[in-house]
Amino acid sequence: MADISIENLNKSYGKTQVIRDFSLNIKSQSFTTLVGPSGCGKSTLLRMIAGLEIITSGNISIDGSLVNDLSPKERNIAMVFQSYALYPHMTVFDNMAFGLKLEKRPKEEIQDRVQEAARILQIEQYLQRKPKQLSGGQRQRVAIGRAITRKPKVFLFDEPLSNLDAALRVQMRIELAKLHEHLDTTMVYVTHDQTEAMTLSSEIVVLDQGEISQQGEPLDLYNKPNNTFVAGFIGSPKMNLIPAKFLSNSSNQVEINTLGSNFTLPKKLKDKNIDAELIFGIRPEDMHLGSDNDYHWQSKVFVTEKLGSSTFIYLEGEKEPIVIEVTGDATIKVGDLVKIKLDLEKTHLFNSQNLSILE
Ligand code: ADP
Repeated sequence: MADISIENLNKSYGKTQVIRDFSLNIKSQSFTTLVGPSGCGKSTLLRMIAGLEIITSGNISIDGSLVNDLSPKERNIAMVFQSYALYPHMTVFDNMAFGLKLEKRPKEEIQDRVQEAARILQIEQYLQRKPKQLSGGQRQRVAIGRAITRKPKVFLFDEPLSNLDAALRVQMRIELAKLHEHLDTTMVYVTHDQTEAMTLSSEIVVLDQGEISQQGEPLDLYNKPNNTFVAGFIGSPKMNLIPAKFLSNSSNQVEINTLGSNFTLPKKLKDKNIDAELIFGIRPEDMHLGSDNDYHWQSKVFVTEKLGSSTFIYLEGEKEPIVIEVTGDATIKVGDLVKIKLDLEKTHLFNSQNLSILE
C-alpha cells in the first residue's frame, strides 16, 4: 500500500521540455492510467517515478517519503516493460527468482514466492522452460510474475500489452484487472490505447504535451470531457466535433446553428460569455436513425463498418465525416441518404479555446 505524490515536476532533454510543471496524487491501491498520444511524455513520467530517469526539477514521494535521490532498487517498486526484459539463458523460475536471489533471500522463501506468483498467473507448468519456448503472452506473464515475487509497494507498467495480438490483449487486460483486485497494490499503467485505459483504470490521467489535460474516473471523462482533446481521445470511434455558430442565449440555455439547423441545447451554460464560433460535440451512439417526418439532419453514407453487434456509418459532413452507430441489423448501404436524429441531452459544446462550456 502506497500513494505517490508528484509535485511541480519538470523534465527537459537539452532544450526540449517534455514534462511541464506536473503535479499529481496517485491514490494508494488505485489503478491509475497515464494515457495520451505517442510522445506526450507518459513513459518519461513513469521512468521518473521508477528512478530510471533523472528529474530536472520537482519532487516525487512514495508512501510519504521523498524518493528524488533514491536509486530504483531503493524505491520498492517493480516495473513491467513492453519488451518483457527477460534473461534468455535463464529458466522461467530463475527469471522470477532473480531479484530475490540478489537480495539474498532464503531458498525456501524464494521457492514459495515464485510458486505463489506462478500459481496466480497460471504459469506453474512452464517454470523449467526458457523464455524462447514460451508465447508472447506467457513471456509477459513471467515478466509480471517477476514483479509480483518482489512484493513491491507499487507496480509500474509501461505499455505491457502492446506486443500481444488483439485476442491476447483482451485476455491479459482481464487478468491484470484480476491481479489488481487480488494484490490490492498501487498500480500505475502507461498506454496510448484508450480502450485499455477505460477498461482497467480506477483513475485516468489524460496527458497532452507533458501536461494533464484532464483526470478522473473513466466514465466521468467519457461523459464530461473538459475539452476537445479529451473528447476526441476517449471513446472509439471518437466524438464527432462539428463547427457551430452561437445564435442566442436565454434563461441560461444556448441556441446554436450546426449541421444546417438551429438547436436549443437542454444543458445549462457554465458561463454567460459565449464565442461566436463554437464546436458542437456528439458521440456516434447519440445520433440515431430518424423517420421521414422526425429528423434533424440528412446526409449521404460513404462508408459502413459492420461489427456484427453494431454498424458504424460514415456520413458526409461539412468539413469532416460524421460517424453514427446503429444496430448491427440496420440495412444501410453506401450511397443511401439517411435521416438522423440527435439525442440533444447527450450533446457537448466547446468554445474557441476548445474548452467545454456546458455544465
Ligand atoms: P510517450 O511515452 O508518451 O510516447 P515519451 O515519454 O517516450 O512519450 O517521450 C516524450 C518526449 O520526450 C518525446 O518527444 C520524445 O521524443 C522525447 N524523449 C524521450 N526520451 C528522450 C531522450 N532520451 N532524449 C531526448 N528526447 C527524448
